[in-house]
Amino acid sequence: MTENIILHVGIDDTDSNEGMCTTYLTHIIIKQLKEYGIVPTDYPRLIRLNPFARYKTRGNGALSFVLNLTSREDVEKVEKTVLENVESYSMFEGVNTNPGVVFYEGEITSQMRDYATGAIYNIYTIDYAEEFAKKVGMRIHKFKKGRGIIGAIAAISIQLDDETFECLAYRKPENYGTKRQLNQDSIYEMNDRTYPETFDNIDIEGNYTAIEPHTPCPVLYGIRGNTPEIVEKAHNIVESYEEIEDYCIFRTNQHTDMHIQENVPIKDMKDTSCYRIQCKVTENPHDIEGGHVFFKVSDGTGIIECAAFEPTKTFRNTVRKLRKNDEIILYGGLNDNHTFNIEKFELLNVAPQHKLLNPLCECGKRMKSAGKNKGFKCPKCGNKIRTSEKVKQFLPRDIKEGFYEVPTEARRHLSKPIVRMKQ
Ligand code: ATP
Repeated sequence: MTENIILHVGIDDTDSNEGMCTTYLTHIIIKQLKEYGIVPTDYPRLIRLNPFARYKTRGNGALSFVLNLTSREDVEKVEKTVLENVESYSMFEGVNTNPGVVFYEGEITSQMRDYATGAIYNIYTIDYAEEFAKKVGMRIHKFKKGRGIIGAIAAISIQLDDETFECLAYRKPENYGTKRQLNQDSIYEMNDRTYPETFDNIDIEGNYTAIEPHTPCPVLYGIRGNTPEIVEKAHNIVESYEEIEDYCIFRTNQHTDMHIQENVPIKDMKDTSCYRIQCKVTENPHDIEGGHVFFKVSDGTGIIECAAFEPTKTFRNTVRKLRKNDEIILYGGLNDNHTFNIEKFELLNVAPQHKLLNPLCECGKRMKSAGKNKGFKCPKCGNKIRTSEKVKQFLPRDIKEGFYEVPTEARRHLSKPIVRMKQ
């Protein structure tokens, strides 16, 4: 008898800094399933979770895909294929590599969607994830500590109201760890022909290309954009001098600001969560050792320290121009030292800044104090005035209202670039 089974597959935490990439493993699995005539209903999904998760390798990404199956034998075949591949390809020797695989049959419930949002906003334990999976009837497989189930459950469960796509091109295994051989001019050409529908491919200052990772992983490059068509077009423009093994397009929550929580007052903000805060600058920016720039803001319920860290490079120059009473909307996250790590900000109102000076004499010379409460006296012509009130001299401000963001190099995967905010 033919059945109609919707099977969701979630995979996470198979890679380490020494190699592999869960996107590649997912791609290999999907290719193998295709050989059996089993094809996913849609693009596989690459889901970025809480950027502050402690045991992430790089960008805290988890993977999922969906299959429509017609028999229990096919379900068994799929589960066997997935688990065998995770066993043979995972970087088990990595201290923080603890793969997790999750299978779920049926429709995604609101409880599951809430779990997924929570995995972006909060930090979960393995026990919590395991209990949740059992409660909703998922089949989980833990390898080593099995921490990957936290992300795998979320990757299956998340609902994408906004989304982008990434085309990942993979290297031949014999080239892993060697310098990537790409025609750099072709990357600029691709950018010219596809931006702003693709984005973050060239660094904002335009002096280097940003599509290649710098790790020994299987990824040759990744191109990010708004639709599957545009990332595939862009991929076809890029010229590689080394052979591309294959490529795969992923549906993602990258660059959607899905991590940003709104309408949370500063007094209620928690460490390792990300927020949008409408506030006023209460303390001017200053540099600290290491090239980091710090300043303080308040929303009326509390004050927090904000930072543009050294890796945000030229963004720090913009941040240095902020002044007390400027009204801003900040986007970013509170790290575990309770410092707000800024990803971008909108300057709503540039507060006038002034310094107080002694008045000018009629003769044009700046007057001097004539003594406490005795007004001012001109040192040139001896003219006196009784008032002790100083005059305001307004200072020029070298910054305008508008959006400012970190350069591509320092952008979080989840952070929405300004170019997408305008679309
Ligand atoms: P890559 O970007 O190369 O795929 P990664 O940065 O995604 O690597 P992982 O190897 O996937 O890193 O490790 C992240 C780990 O953190 C996984 O075990 C995942 O289940 C777990 N994790 C994800 N979200 C949370 C969360 N909200 N709380 C606690 N752990 C989490």
